[in-house]
Amino acid sequence: MRGYVPAYEVKSPETLTEALSILQAQPGKWKPLAGGTDLMVLLESGVLENRNLLNLQGLKELTGISVSPAEITIGALSTFRQILEHDLLKTEFPLLAAAARSIGAIAIQNRATIGGNIANASPAADSPPALIAHDAVIELVSSTGSRRLSYAEFHQGYKKTQLATDELIRAIILPRTQADTGSNDFFFYRKVGTRKAQAISKICFAGRFHPCSPGNLRLVFGSVAPTVLRCIQTEAIIQGGGLDLKTIQKAKDSLTRELSPIDDIRSTAEYRLRVSLNLLEDFLILARQKQSHVELGS
Ligand SMILES: Cc1cc2nc3c(=O)[nH]c(=O)nc-3n(C[C@H](O)[C@H](O)[C@H](O)COP(=O)(O)OP(=O)(O)OC[C@H]3O[C@@H](n4cnc5c(N)ncnc54)[C@H](O)[C@@H]3O)c2cc1C
Repeated sequence: MRGYVPAYEVKSPETLTEALSILQAQPGKWKPLAGGTDLMVLLESGVLENRNLLNLQGLKELTGISVSPAEITIGALSTFRQILEHDLLKTEFPLLAAAARSIGAIAIQNRATIGGNIANASPAADSPPALIAHDAVIELVSSTGSRRLSYAEFHQGYKKTQLATDELIRAIILPRTQADTGSNDFFFYRKVGTRKAQAISKICFAGRFHPCSPGNLRLVFGSVAPTVLRCIQTEAIIQGGGLDLKTIQKAKDSLTRELSPIDDIRSTAEYRLRVSLNLLEDFLILARQKQSHVELGS
């Protein structure tokens, strides 16, 4: 049944300090509201339990994309459209740009924020695999200060994150060190859904490979485990064995052990596993071609 709008209370603080003191005064009472593209679906279907919404839209401290020599900082309220239109992000962090392009359709991209996509903590969300593959860092703020942690450690279980009830996501930080490796980086992002737009992922994969720096390999999957998953054991097999066909087969065997897909309304465990293995193979074969080009100097 549809949510009854007058039953909800909304506070719209004008500063981050004000917002954080509201969260601190009544922990767990106020639910942050950013673009509303997840929360309004819950409200519309009558399952938004939290009746007190903290509207973040007035908080300038959570907006903007800033660039320094070491990193790019993306404010939590940045929309996927703003991310897509940022030239440096497109060039240096193409997995994130590809993820942004694959989210919903234009209306959703204009409204949905990166902070909301992360905090919603769905294992099927499209930006988290890209962010983990780019070694993103997340900045959380509360009335008592701020902390930065590796984004890969932020998701702890199904819909469980490290965000405390008095905290907000302030920003996502992307280290520009990977830009130093130049044009030899090979990036691969694939979202498999029912349609090209307005479809939640059945499987989502972000891969990163550098022919001369095996430590830069990243294999990150969405929709195949309780959280978005970086497949560290499978990465280690490639790092130790290279990209010959025998090692690729070993990597696929390892991936089968690392993933734990389920049957749900969008797909089956069997389909998800099979497509994940195909995506891994496609990525590694293309990575091998990239490596041969580099070795031949072409
Ligand atoms: C038609 C449609 C299509 C969609 N397609 C996709 C898709 O293809 N891929 C995909 O990944 N998602 C998709 N979504 C889901 C949604 O658009 C995204 O998850 C979006 O990024 C959520 O951002 P938001 O700003 O709208 O979040 P909101 O709905 O405002 O909030 C979502 C959650 O994040 C919390 N939150 C928001 N900002 C912060 C913050 N700064 N600090 C702490 N907590 C915060 C809120 O409390 C809430 O729990 C779709 C949704 C719709 C309606």
